[in-house]
Amino acid sequence: MAQGGDTMLKDRLLEQLKVIELERGAIRKVVPYLREQGYDHVLLVADDHTYAAAGEQLSGLLAVEVVETRVCLIQPDAQGDVVADEIALVQLLLEIRPEETDALIAVGSGTIHDIVRFAAHKTGKPFVSVPTAPSVDGFTSAGAPLIIRGVKKTVPAVPPVAIFADLDVLTAAPQRLVAAGFGDMLGKYTSLFDWKFSHLTAGEPYDEQAAAITERALLNCVTHADAIGARSEEGIRALMTALIESGIAMLLFGQSHPASGAEHHLSHYWEMEYLRLGRRALLHGAKVGVACAEIARAYHAAGEGTFPGAAPAALREHGEQVRAWLRDLPGEAELRGLLRKAGGPATLAELGVGEELFARSLREAHLVRDRRTLLRALNEAEQA
Ligand SMILES: [Zn+2]
Repeated sequence: MAQGGDTMLKDRLLEQLKVIELERGAIRKVVPYLREQGYDHVLLVADDHTYAAAGEQLSGLLAVEVVETRVCLIQPDAQGDVVADEIALVQLLLEIRPEETDALIAVGSGTIHDIVRFAAHKTGKPFVSVPTAPSVDGFTSAGAPLIIRGVKKTVPAVPPVAIFADLDVLTAAPQRLVAAGFGDMLGKYTSLFDWKFSHLTAGEPYDEQAAAITERALLNCVTHADAIGARSEEGIRALMTALIESGIAMLLFGQSHPASGAEHHLSHYWEMEYLRLGRRALLHGAKVGVACAEIARAYHAAGEGTFPGAAPAALREHGEQVRAWLRDLPGEAELRGLLRKAGGPATLAELGVGEELFARSLREAHLVRDRRTLLRALNEAEQA
């Protein structure tokens, strides 16, 4: 992903995302858009589920307007999960035929988008986003979180040139995917805390505007928690708007700091462990939501001096400021209550993550990224 200081690259990435449609029937605007851009040969990328959710409908619309369309259905792994790994990436790269393809269309949730954004970047093709569920904030992302040899890493890629988020499609998405999107947003409570913490204690770059956009998106989601749980049009619109805005804040900043802190590091750690063990994957946002409640519990304990081990130097030096921020961070009970309202798992047990894995991840998850989170500071003080 672009670096915070690389203004030209950031501007170019932001510049790429020109069209954002979020309304009922938005999918019917895809074909006129392709026509206008002169994209006559497209490759529609989906999986079995997302093809049924919107790919089939879009294929029909494309056929009527004689846009030449080929379809690539990404195959699931041995556990039945579609994963953005080497195998899925090569499947798509082999099917692109660069000289006969004007654009790629990602029809799906976060994983399909990550596979497509990487392939689009490598082949220099524009890609159009058609989300099928409000499940993650990564639709508009420039970086692709990929699993390479079992390790999750974010590699540079491209954002979509246009996003067509159809509320008729999104409100029909399964509740667990909707709740996952809410969990990914709720995680901004701890990611925004960690971002301020890393800026104060380690001089990591900070951007008021990106932080404000992310915070507003988060609070708007929290206000609509009941409507999101009920999957009303109003609730789904609020959630999808927040997910898109969070993605744009990352594009604006050029890195994932606004939207990803220790709660995401826990989620990545669990994801890699599940892959290692050959277990069915858990939804990204479901993990992030529960991880956010667990991190909030650990951070409040640290602020009260009850986290096991020595207090980190950063907390001794900047204790007053950090404790002031902690007062704005909801407690675990409030966070779990919000997760329940949205209809998702609220505890490790409900999520299906065991105590041993959780305890290990709390000690080691900061190692998956080089970000200066409070979790890292707590663990490094422990080892010192
Ligand atoms: Zn996320």
